[in-house]
Amino acid sequence: MVGGQADVKLVSNAMANATRRKIMAMLVEKERTNEEIEQAVGGTMLDYHLQMLKQAGLADTREGRVVITDFGKNFMETKSDKPGVAKKDLAGTRPLQVVDLRQLLPCIADSSKFRIIARFEPPLEGALKLLEPLFPRARYSDRIGALIIQRGNILITVYSTGRVTMTMIKSEAEAREVLEDLKKTINEAIIKGITPVPREKVKVDHAEIYQYLPRTDCQICGEQSCYAFAIKLVGRETEIDKCTPLLEPRYATNLEHIRTLLEYL
Ligand code: SF4
Repeated sequence: MVGGQADVKLVSNAMANATRRKIMAMLVEKERTNEEIEQAVGGTMLDYHLQMLKQAGLADTREGRVVITDFGKNFMETKSDKPGVAKKDLAGTRPLQVVDLRQLLPCIADSSKFRIIARFEPPLEGALKLLEPLFPRARYSDRIGALIIQRGNILITVYSTGRVTMTMIKSEAEAREVLEDLKKTINEAIIKGITPVPREKVKVDHAEIYQYLPRTDCQICGEQSCYAFAIKLVGRETEIDKCTPLLEPRYATNLEHIRTLLEYL
């Protein structure tokens, strides 16, 4: 493990579940034994829920007890990154600087790659949404108040607060290069004062989704094959949660990519 925090996308998945939110609320008060947690939330899938919280960097096990991490404490204090008031143009937006960059955890699907957290100053706040057209594959998510940018296998999430997370990064040098590139593209627009013209939303097809599925054709989802499942996903005739093999830790990054692609639909 490289650091004690994790990618915000994993955090968002971890905190999307009521049982895990309840566990976190217990851990804010004090560290707990597995038995105490089981008494409060029941034993069903408890190992899985704890694993999700640990993978997200929110909780950890120390001397047989479950504890909240510093990142978890910080998250529970702030709850989430709230977007600023939406702006109509880039007037008044100041150029960015990269002020922080940390390697976090190795990626679950590929331990030779890393999850990175970084920070831009000043925060883009309400101007962030305007930047979506600057990138060939990007989508602003109102739900999480962030711009999600896909660059090959790398997923970059820029929050209105200035926080930036990246997955599938090979090294700190690559992280710096990607961040500098991102900063340059954004700053060019800010310095020129040209607000990017909104363009058509990024198109996603089933072949792209298919490449991130387990491709075992196990039929657990009720479809004849992963390919058929991908077609139905794009047509919104099924839900990603029906592919339960994707919940296995080794597919965590694949799932993240698919969720991002589905945001583009
Ligand atoms: S459950 Fe997942 S891996 Fe199995 S066939 Fe469906 S899409 Fe493919």
